[in-house]
Amino acid sequence: MLFFDPTYMIFMLPAIILMVIAQGYVSSAYNKWGQVMARSRMSGAQAAQRLISAGGLDVDVNSVRGKLTDHYDPRKKVLYLSEGVYDSPSIAALAIAAHELGHAMQDRDGYFPLRLRAALVPAVNIGSYLGWILIFIGLILRLTDLAWLGVLVFSGGAIFALATLPVELNASARARQLLTDAGMIVGEDEKRGVKNVLNAAALTYVAGLITAVMQLLYFITLVGGIGRRR
Ligand SMILES: [Zn+2]
Repeated sequence: MLFFDPTYMIFMLPAIILMVIAQGYVSSAYNKWGQVMARSRMSGAQAAQRLISAGGLDVDVNSVRGKLTDHYDPRKKVLYLSEGVYDSPSIAALAIAAHELGHAMQDRDGYFPLRLRAALVPAVNIGSYLGWILIFIGLILRLTDLAWLGVLVFSGGAIFALATLPVELNASARARQLLTDAGMIVGEDEKRGVKNVLNAAALTYVAGLITAVMQLLYFITLVGGIGRRR
């Protein structure tokens, strides 16, 4: 009943649809604004380097293989830019490079949601399957308390997704400010492009949060139902 529960699909379908829409939005924004070159003619790597110097940050910039694999590594203090961002002077490349730099600035500032999210990583990694196991055993053996403990452990994933939202939105807000202040993005069209790319990315994190919350709600309903039947 746990594996082929139609109720699960009812809970997850809106989240899945939103995720598909968000992914499509990211692809179309990236494809569109990856073709439009910024008038500043600066590549993602050049823009990042200049913003790092201007901000007095101690961060290196490296390229990384793949598409949209850009990320900031807080342990190594390295900004990894994907091939399509590193050498490209497109609006999308500048938006993504500045967004990742926004994470580097959060790291330097000790931005609380970023620290919270980092602290949750081990708990989420263990909790995502341990929670499942506890819920499963609890349901099979009719040990409602154990199943509720599983739900509690599992909820770490939703808290993680919730903490991710301010981290990502703040990095994007910083990115827009940085690019505008440095004169790397000029004119309303370029600003619109940056906004478009960053908003698309933000929507995927909203979809991620809804997915985690719906999954949690499903388990709450499932365990709650078993509890009532006992
Ligand atoms: Zn980000």
